[in-house]
Amino acid sequence: MIPALMEETLVLLKPDCLEGRNCGEVLKRFEEADFIVFGVKMMRLSDEVLREHYAHLADKPFFPEIQEFMQSSSVIALAMRGDNAITRVRDMVGPTDSTIAEKGTIRGDFGQDKMRNVVHASDSVENGQAELKRFFLENELHGK
Ligand code: ADP
Repeated sequence: MIPALMEETLVLLKPDCLEGRNCGEVLKRFEEADFIVFGVKMMRLSDEVLREHYAHLADKPFFPEIQEFMQSSSVIALAMRGDNAITRVRDMVGPTDSTIAEKGTIRGDFGQDKMRNVVHASDSVENGQAELKRFFLENELHGK
C-alpha cells in the first residue's frame, strides 16, 4: 500500500458559520475524520490580511462584498493536519457555490450561496503553508 501523505491546512470558520452556530458541528466532522487541530484562534481580519488572503479575487467586482462579509464578525482560524488533508478537507467542504454543493458536505448542509459558504480551506500544500504563516505565529502552533 502507498503510505498516505501527512499534510497541513488552514481552515477558517467564516462569519456565517459563527452566526449559524455551526462551528461545533463543523469541527466535530473534521475531528471524526481523524484530522488533528494543532492551532486555533478567533480573530478579526484586517484589510491587509484579507487583501493577501483573497489576492486572486482582488479585481473581481464582488471583492468589496467579500471583504464586508469576512469582516462582519470575527472568524475562527484552525490549523489542522492529517492524511491527504488538502484534498480530503476540500472534499468534505464541497464546491464554492453552496447551492450546488451536495448534501453531506459542509457547504451543502450549512452554506447559503457562493459567498456565504461557511468555511475556507487551503487548496494546495504550498498555499496551506503560506496561509498558516499568515494567520498564526509560530509559537501559536502546537508541535511546529
Ligand atoms: P474557495 O473558497 O472555494 O476556494 P475561491 O478561492 O474562488 O473559492 O473564492 C474565495 C471566496 O470568495 C469564496 O469562498 C467565497 O466566499 C467568495 N466568492 C468566490 N466567488 C464568488 C462569487 N462569484 N460571488 C461572491 N463571492 C464569491
